[in-house]
Amino acid sequence: MADLDDGSTETDPFPQSPLPKRELDALLGARLAEVPGWHSPDDPVRLGFAMTAPHELALETFGRFAARNPNNVGLHTRFGDGVRGTRRLEREAVLALAGLLHADAADGYVTSGANEGTLAGLRVGRNALRAADAGRVVVLASTLTHHSVAKAAEILGLELRLCPAGPSWRLEAAAVEAALDDLAAQSPAGDRTGVIVVSTAGYYNTGLVDPVDEIADVLARRAANGGDLRLFHHVDAAHGGMILPFTAPEVPFDFRNAHVHSIVLDPHKSGLMPYSCGVFLCRKGLMGHGAVPAPMSGFLDETITGSRSGAMAAALWSLVFGVAADGYRQVFRHCLAVRDRLAGAIRAADPDAVVLPSPGNTVVVAAFSHEGGRLPAELLERYRLVGNMLAWSAPDGTDEERLFYHFYAMPHLTRAHVDGFGTALAAAVRAPSPSRSRRPAGDTAAPGLPGELRELRRSSVCLRHLVVHPPQRRDPDGHPHTYSFHTFQDRAGLDEDLTVRPWDGDGAHQGLYVYAPDLDHPFANELFGVTDPRRFALEVLDRNQQKLSLVGAAHFSAFGPEPRDADRPVVLANFHADGTLRSVEYKYGDRRYNDEVQVFRDTIVVKVGKDARSVHRDGDDYSFSLDTSLELRVRVLDDDSAPRVERVARHADPALPRRRHLLRGQYRRFPNRFFDTVIEMTVGRRHSAPGAPYVPALPGGDVLARSAELDLVRVVPSVQDGDLRVTLTAVDQSGEAVFSVPLGLGARLSALLTGIPVGDPESLTPAQVVTWAAGLYPPVRALREAARSEGRHRHLSACPDGPPGQAEPS
Ligand SMILES: *Cc1c(COP(=O)(O)O)cnc(C)c1O
Repeated sequence: MADLDDGSTETDPFPQSPLPKRELDALLGARLAEVPGWHSPDDPVRLGFAMTAPHELALETFGRFAARNPNNVGLHTRFGDGVRGTRRLEREAVLALAGLLHADAADGYVTSGANEGTLAGLRVGRNALRAADAGRVVVLASTLTHHSVAKAAEILGLELRLCPAGPSWRLEAAAVEAALDDLAAQSPAGDRTGVIVVSTAGYYNTGLVDPVDEIADVLARRAANGGDLRLFHHVDAAHGGMILPFTAPEVPFDFRNAHVHSIVLDPHKSGLMPYSCGVFLCRKGLMGHGAVPAPMSGFLDETITGSRSGAMAAALWSLVFGVAADGYRQVFRHCLAVRDRLAGAIRAADPDAVVLPSPGNTVVVAAFSHEGGRLPAELLERYRLVGNMLAWSAPDGTDEERLFYHFYAMPHLTRAHVDGFGTALAAAVRAPSPSRSRRPAGDTAAPGLPGELRELRRSSVCLRHLVVHPPQRRDPDGHPHTYSFHTFQDRAGLDEDLTVRPWDGDGAHQGLYVYAPDLDHPFANELFGVTDPRRFALEVLDRNQQKLSLVGAAHFSAFGPEPRDADRPVVLANFHADGTLRSVEYKYGDRRYNDEVQVFRDTIVVKVGKDARSVHRDGDDYSFSLDTSLELRVRVLDDDSAPRVERVARHADPALPRRRHLLRGQYRRFPNRFFDTVIEMTVGRRHSAPGAPYVPALPGGDVLARSAELDLVRVVPSVQDGDLRVTLTAVDQSGEAVFSVPLGLGARLSALLTGIPVGDPESLTPAQVVTWAAGLYPPVRALREAARSEGRHRHLSACPDGPPGQAEPS
């Protein structure tokens, strides 16, 4: 189901019969084609991500063992040759890796990755510190530490303290010492505080390695001197642990330090393994701190995961023994050559860039010399590049934050990849970036405009039209995952080009203004608008936006001159390209979060707690997300049938605090809608049961929703005297709101509000649109007036003075 049809949140029916083999293969093939490979010239070059092609030997071994489906549940490093099969292979692989990291003895196991390995390390650490009578346990790391550490601390309920990573970008021993002094001073005498220090060997975004030996010395000295701190030291070596031993064996990040207790490695990141494969290692005597009896299976479980893949352990063994140090040394020698070639290409493209290859590791970080240092969106997209703000000491000695991109020299990369990137980068840093080629805001509005329009692009009188499409591709044909949507949002902060000028077309329509990105070609780009800035605005979308639009081709909104308040909604009329009315919307609440009624010709939709968010991406596009607590859709049939509930879909429990469905950064890429609850009903237009309201039973019992005005409410739809009524009663008894909408209102509005055809926008003239807008204002204003409120009882009708129930089509 397309994301925006009905919200992407609904489930699919479970298939009853198997797909025919041919169809199954075709569908899987289509999805496989969407997964990029590594070696063909058409494959993307993912320079910004530490990913690579897995080794054939690992894939082959995994396949060979997978059919037997061995389960490596539990820990296998305690036993000698007594363990058999894939458990023996795991023991041998893990202990060989522990040997690589200079442990004299160790326990450990194959994890799903470094996140799990760090969780295992912090769990063992916490439990060991608690066993040492530490009440409070704090995790101490650097602000540049991988987020898996914060995640583990959150899971384990531990306090997290981050030392600012200064211009060295490392966790310095002095900073650890100072933080420990501080923690020691905070704990009342006699109260023991446990501290889990996490140092990193290969930061994700810089490749740099902490001075693990110096940090370990600080911890060892403090442990030997007594005091109330109890100390544990975990090393996140996900992005250096499998590389440094082969490229820079002298870097002492590992068990060479007596005060390193556990280490996580990530063979699926830098060890040529397929996902999911990490390795957790710790000193002997610690694993038991995480033991949980499994009486139904008759063993003690010391790992985070339960059942684990024996075939994955076999695959890891195949690389440890089949590639071995000679093989890994050769792979990483190649990577470092690629790293240096990358650094050279960046310096050649921008001789003034700051370019820092990580010593012994496969990362290059670079800050570009032009203002802001931002690379163009197309280049970021094509090479999947990511940038971070990092502390930086400028040559004049001042400290600042600066944008650094990171680049990974992974094993699959060739000279040709790097040279191609170098050429693209050189072109990109020479050309001005598209976001800076826009006309400055000052050009867009002449002096003498009313305040509301002086900076139209920052004004919220007009509709904020949100457009979602790939950068630089306005024509949506061939881009099915693009949408356009309007909502009320302040335009402030959106870097939008609109020009505006007073309408002087024919002397009529004093006080109106027209606007568009380019008033010389008013219908060619995005939209053309006409507004009386205190009363209304009408916007006609361009050809491409009409194809994208989910809400019709033209929009009229009446917002004044009376201020919008709780009783006076904004009223919005949406028109199809052929000029017929699509819907009228009544919005109560603030601009972003409201309760609203949408009236279509044959449908009434009541939205409770509709929350719209949007972001502006680089370039010229926007994206959005809509979360609505409850949507009631009532289809009005052309008969006298009684109300019927067709469907109640409960997606989320409104009684619990709910987070937004899409997180920021997700709705940039996947705009969609979400509803806590959807109710679908039908009712005949001529159904009228005078007297008592008809209250349909809702399957599943009471329906709750989060109203924009009343917070948590009970929602009861009913039909009475030809009106749909929706009653919202606050569960804390703090109030009630009622929407009542005549069943015939949609038909009546369709007759009342007529438009002009706009499907061929370039053949329109501004004068036609201005005349249309001026003619629409009186009836839409009357609708706004007719949306009468007595307290929070809102009755919508087509005429200001008509008594309730008199809004039938004549
Ligand atoms: C990649 C990485 C992780 C996370 O590894 P996963 O295998 O994705 O769990 C943790 N720490 C560092 C330093 C990393 O580079």
